[in-house]
Amino acid sequence: MPSRAPVPPVICYPVETLPRPDLPALRAACDGMTCVATHIAPPREAACFEVKAGQAFRITSIDGPQVGDLNLWNAHDLSERFYSGKTRALHGTHVTEGHQLWSSFPTLRPMVTITRDTLNWYRFDADGGGIHDVIGTRCDPYTHHLLSGQDYHHCCHSNLTRAVAEHLNLSLSEAECHVHDVLNVFMCTGFTRDTQQYFMKASPVQPGDFIEFFAEVDLLCALSACPGGDCSATHSSDEAKCYPLEITVYDLARAPDGWSAPQTNGYDRTHGI
Ligand SMILES: [Zn+2]
Repeated sequence: MPSRAPVPPVICYPVETLPRPDLPALRAACDGMTCVATHIAPPREAACFEVKAGQAFRITSIDGPQVGDLNLWNAHDLSERFYSGKTRALHGTHVTEGHQLWSSFPTLRPMVTITRDTLNWYRFDADGGGIHDVIGTRCDPYTHHLLSGQDYHHCCHSNLTRAVAEHLNLSLSEAECHVHDVLNVFMCTGFTRDTQQYFMKASPVQPGDFIEFFAEVDLLCALSACPGGDCSATHSSDEAKCYPLEITVYDLARAPDGWSAPQTNGYDRTHGI
């Protein structure tokens, strides 16, 4: 066996050339913003809501520690949707202030910019856990059935499916194919050190904590209040204590200085032909 010397890791996607948002300008424009709509994602249910480009929205913990699963679509073209995997490749396993949530191919552009995050202080704990991950998928009845043989109907995947079906007047099967991997809002997760398995632990979120997004494009959004509650013990069941999540949508007093809606990706799509 030839010996193989350790080699250093290389960042797959260096972000030095990634166009970056002007966070101070976005935050300044969000100061004094006006709430124009409020929605509630009830426990073990989901809410659908729309946000215009240039508006902001917050997801807030209100009654108790609760994790949320967030989907985003271009409101005018549902085939453009949040791309969890590429967001992870660009920004890392967990996102916070200054990070953007990117859309699917072929658009690959920022859908939202995270402008404020009251759990930004958490960073990464001794177990490697962080907040707001893009490493999980969403709890779903298929994996639950695979592992337990049981059917449970209030996983985030089903909650999102029902909410999208109702909001867009689609059948469940039509709506289900639009549901995609989520941003796990407020969830504390990581990979175990020894086996690199996905883990969760009790979220530090408390009532009053929020994450705030600036909408870069017109959005259709869906948020599920996960049946795992604070995800300290279990999910995909009615066992955990669950709370609602509040969504507030805001008009900004003015457009952020220097901001313009993001263009679709510049690749010519000829794929070498
Ligand atoms: Zn869930």
